[in-house]
Amino acid sequence: MKRRVLTGLLPVLLLGASATLAAEIAPGVDLLPGRFVSGTQPDGNTVVFRAPAGLIVVDTGRHAEHTQAILDLAAKAGVPVVAVINTHWHLDHIGGNPRVRHAYPGVRVWASGALTQAMTGFLATYRAQLQEAAGKTQDPSERRGFQDELAIIDAGSALAPDEVVTVTGPRTIGGRALQLGLERNAVTAGDVWVFDPATGVLASGDLVTLPAPLFDTACPRGWQAALARLASVPFTVLVPGHGRPMSRVDFERYRAGFDRLLACAASKRTDEACGDGWMRDIGPLMPESDRGLARRLLQYYLPNNLRAAPEKTARLCGDERPGSTATPGATPRHR
Ligand SMILES: [Zn+2]
Repeated sequence: MKRRVLTGLLPVLLLGASATLAAEIAPGVDLLPGRFVSGTQPDGNTVVFRAPAGLIVVDTGRHAEHTQAILDLAAKAGVPVVAVINTHWHLDHIGGNPRVRHAYPGVRVWASGALTQAMTGFLATYRAQLQEAAGKTQDPSERRGFQDELAIIDAGSALAPDEVVTVTGPRTIGGRALQLGLERNAVTAGDVWVFDPATGVLASGDLVTLPAPLFDTACPRGWQAALARLASVPFTVLVPGHGRPMSRVDFERYRAGFDRLLACAASKRTDEACGDGWMRDIGPLMPESDRGLARRLLQYYLPNNLRAAPEKTARLCGDERPGSTATPGATPRHR
C-alpha cells in the first residue's frame, strides 16, 4: 500500500525537479527557468550572478521546489547567497524570499518600494479570495495550494526589501558591479531590471514575458516607455521574467509586437484580431506548446486590462487625482 502512495507522488516530484535545472548562460551567470503552465500558478525565472562575496539571486520563485533549486545551487558552489534582487512584487518572483532568508540570514534583499502599497491593495484582496477559496474547496491538494499562497503573503516583512531601489544607476553588490534600473508604473508601480556589464546579461523581470505580457497590475503606456529605455541598455542576452533567453533581435521583435498590441487595443479591431496579431508578431519566439496559453491570456487581458475603464488604467498609471481611493479592479490572475 505504501508503495502505491509513493508512486503516486513521483510525477509531481519529477516535474518540480525538471523545471529548475540550472543552465550557465554566460561565464558566472546561471539561469534557473521558472515553470509557467496553463492552469497553475507560475514561478518566475531566476538569474544567479557569481560575485566575489557569494551569489546574487535575481528573483526567488514562488513554489518551494523552485527556491530549493536556488539553495542547492549555492550549496553546490559552496558559497552563500549574499543578495537577492526582486524585479517586482508578484508572488512568483518574491515568494522564495523567506526561504532564502532562513537559509542565509545575512542576505540583503533589493527591490523597489512597491510591495508596501500592494500589501494593502492587490495582495489584501487576493488574500481574502484565497481564504474564501481554501474554506470552500473539498480537494486537499487544492487547499494546500491556497494555504501555500496565504503563507507567502503572511510572511510580510520577510518578503520586503532591506535596500529600496529608488533610482536607476550603478551598484556594487557582493563585490560585483551591476547596473540596476527602476521603471515606475510599468508592470507594477515599481519594476527593477538588472544589467551585468561584464557579461552583457540583462535580467528584465516581467517587463519582457513570454508567451504574452501579463497586464494584471500594469500601466500599458508606462510599460511601453520602459521597453524603449530597455532597448538602449547595451545587452547581448536578455533573460525575460518568463520564457527563454532572448537575443537583441528577439527583444526588438517582442517590443514591436508590444507596440502593435497596444495600437490594436486602441483601435476598433476585435479582441480576437488583436490576439491574432500578437501570435503572428511573436510566433517565432514562442514554442508551439505555449500558443494555447498565449491566446487565453490575451483574450483575458484585452477586455479586462488593455481595454479597461479609463479610471482603472489611470490608477495603475499613477495619474489619478489626489484624494481618489485606490481599490483593486477585476480579479487579477497573475501576481
Ligand atoms: Zn511573473
